[in-house]
Amino acid sequence: MKVLVINCGSSSLKYQVFDMTTETVLAKGIVERIGIDGSFLKYRRGDEDNITIEAEIPNHEVAIKLVFDALTHEAYGVLRSMDEIAAVGHRVVHAGEKYASSVVIDDDVMAALRECIDLAPLHNPPNIMGIEVAQKLMPNVKHVGVFDTAFHQTMPDYAYMYALPYEYYEKHKVRRYGFHGTSHKYVSQRAAAMLGRPIEELKIITCHLGNGASVTAVKGGKSVDTSMGFTPLEGLIMGTRSGDLDPAVVTFLQEKEGFSSEQVNNLLNKKSGVLGISGVSSDFRSLEEASDAGNERAALAMEMFAYRVRKYIGAYAAAMGGVDAIVFTAGLGENSALMREKICAGLEFLGVKIDAEKNNVRGREVDFSAADAKVRTLLVPTNEELMIARDTLALVRG
Ligand code: ADP
Repeated sequence: MKVLVINCGSSSLKYQVFDMTTETVLAKGIVERIGIDGSFLKYRRGDEDNITIEAEIPNHEVAIKLVFDALTHEAYGVLRSMDEIAAVGHRVVHAGEKYASSVVIDDDVMAALRECIDLAPLHNPPNIMGIEVAQKLMPNVKHVGVFDTAFHQTMPDYAYMYALPYEYYEKHKVRRYGFHGTSHKYVSQRAAAMLGRPIEELKIITCHLGNGASVTAVKGGKSVDTSMGFTPLEGLIMGTRSGDLDPAVVTFLQEKEGFSSEQVNNLLNKKSGVLGISGVSSDFRSLEEASDAGNERAALAMEMFAYRVRKYIGAYAAAMGGVDAIVFTAGLGENSALMREKICAGLEFLGVKIDAEKNNVRGREVDFSAADAKVRTLLVPTNEELMIARDTLALVRG
């Protein structure tokens, strides 16, 4: 059975086609600059080189049609026709409190996703548009919604509520939702498999460290707390996002600098984080280089980042009454041995002890704990697309 996975952004569209009998990727790629000059489609079949197809791509419908053309192309396609696709899985950022797992999309689901636009104004509209266009072009197959927020719906109320007057939760649903759920779920399941133990008896802390970054406490396979909150701004220091902050700083800056709410929003989301601190870059590769060359603010940014992750690990070990494994994933978590080492330094009291040699890897599953460590430290490359394809397959099979 073949499954198409779509992740639709405002000006980009990522896709992958899986053969689910072997869980292999037949083809994948991205359409970029939709509705902007210089748009193109990047396409890759299996392990072959990327092909770039430049075209005028004014909207998402044209983008998806172009993807279908590539997938069924005589020379480099992987399908005889789009009829070979049995179902489509869509990544959707926000499903509010309505869905705790993936669902087959119908009119009620679409209405619920539209209701969440207020909660994710940048992400849900393009996600919804991607579903509408794909449904129009593939009306005869089931479309499944897989939500970033769903995995975290198991959090207890004392973890997801904010200490604001209760009426704002009732009126506007202001609470912690959490994001990256598909990734946290996938890597926690892989971690249990690597440890050879049932996930139901494990306490796992998953650290998704990419441009956006979050930590989740996974107890018995369920998310019980996570660092991102009402929006993906809370929690860890990120590439360009501040993470946790005294909310009084916001009103203080508005008064002192005369910032509008839009300006503060932009400041906290786009100009803060390790970029704001270092003044160098949001990319940790550049920060490591700058720090090695003696740039003190780049070094400070990295220290602050590691310290914040370490604090969350300590907090979540307390939240779960212990921890069996700490998992690192996403761009930075998978690729930076230095950052993994920095984060783990100081966690010896918990039973963390890493093996520096085993830690010196990137991008593949490895247990890099020392033989006598009480808490396992694992590197698990994330695979959100595979998780979406699995959920999609499970739902269409009923
Ligand atoms: P996104 O949240 O955009 O999906 P990724 O998970 O792809 O992000 O992570 C991207 C980030 O990973 C980069 O900005 C960079 O900071 C970090 N990264 C990737 N490769 C390396 C590396 N070799 N060393 C250090 N950091 C890296």
